[in-house]
Amino acid sequence: MSADGACEICSQLADREYARQKFGWEEHDTCLPEAAWRLVMVKDFKPGSERMKQVWQCPLCGGYYLYETDYEYLVNGSEDEQTLMRLSAEEASQLLGDGASDANPG
Ligand SMILES: [Zn+2]
Repeated sequence: MSADGACEICSQLADREYARQKFGWEEHDTCLPEAAWRLVMVKDFKPGSERMKQVWQCPLCGGYYLYETDYEYLVNGSEDEQTLMRLSAEEASQLLGDGASDANPG
């Protein structure tokens, strides 16, 4: 219910943020906006995996984001990618499971 523009954190994040780092090409490296690191991880779909898939939440307005990383081994150096995507309330509840507050066995 925050129709009046995004909060301090979310206003600094696009609907889709993308960053990549390639070994040996540091001058082309990009990284996610600093505001992204103020989000709080609320769900980890692949704990311990090199390719992360997590739901992050904004501590100020409660908005949800999907954070995914990819990792590629290449002959001339490895490549890292991170994607941060804003989720609608509907997408977030699907990812987090309905009734996140109530444990739902089965
Ligand atoms: Zn926010």
